Amino acid sequence: MSECKVMRKLAKPIDDVGEVFLACISGFRNHNLKSRLSSVKIDIVSAAVDFELAASSNTLHTLIPQNDINGIVTKQEMLDVYTNGMVSNSLGRKIYDKLLAGPVHGRCPLCGQGRVKTLDHHLPKSLYPALAVVPANLIPSCSDCNKAKLDAKPISAEYETIHPYFDDIESDLWLHARVIEESPTGIQFFVKIPENWNNVKSKRVKHHFKTFKLSSLYTSLAADEISGIRYYLTQLFSKTGYQGVKEHLSEEAISREKVYLNSWQTAMYKALTDSYWYCSGGFK
Ligand SMILES: [Zn+2]
Repeated sequence: MSECKVMRKLAKPIDDVGEVFLACISGFRNHNLKSRLSSVKIDIVSAAVDFELAASSNTLHTLIPQNDINGIVTKQEMLDVYTNGMVSNSLGRKIYDKLLAGPVHGRCPLCGQGRVKTLDHHLPKSLYPALAVVPANLIPSCSDCNKAKLDAKPISAEYETIHPYFDDIESDLWLHARVIEESPTGIQFFVKIPENWNNVKSKRVKHHFKTFKLSSLYTSLAADEISGIRYYLTQLFSKTGYQGVKEHLSEEAISREKVYLNSWQTAMYKALTDSYWYCSGGFK
């Protein structure tokens, strides 16, 4: 099977940062601007190195925001490199499109659900203009996740969202659900920290869950799914009773878990399987 169990982890882009930057400014016609931009290529490359080191060691909050690039290029000019050089320009756009195409089935790696529509700057370009077109700072995301994250500097290692190129949170079970045993059936999702996780990783996952409002997103999707299986479960229950319904839901949970350990579907079907109330007719 080509699809792995990992939902949010993405392969880190291996593009040469200097070449990406040059591609993004290749269409610029103003000679003065282009020559100033070319001269800060080394600063962009060095900012990318610092970013990768910090992202790999949970120290992104220690990077100091910048107002310009080495006093040579302004913040606004760097924002234009992103907008006009990467989003619009044909050479830069190739890199943009390649990054956008990273996630399996075009699903947003931040919520695991939405369609990828844009690139989200993990560290905001308004505070870190040198990282405006650095691939490792650009995460393919859905519009909702892109909007949910404020343009703020992470205040500490704990208050940083999960970065799909650097963090792997998919090998341990952390997403759980419980059934609200009343009609219509509701599902509540929550994070339960695995025993082997350290404090920083635990708090970051909780911060990520809260920032992207994953609890309400998953509850709404689960409500839809529950309406969709009601008729089938009613038929099944009339033939097999409690045991048949429970076994069916358990098979659904296993099937989902084989693809994604921490998907809302896996968590929901497990919770439904474990609810005596639901399996004995609560779904009606
Ligand atoms: Zn999303």
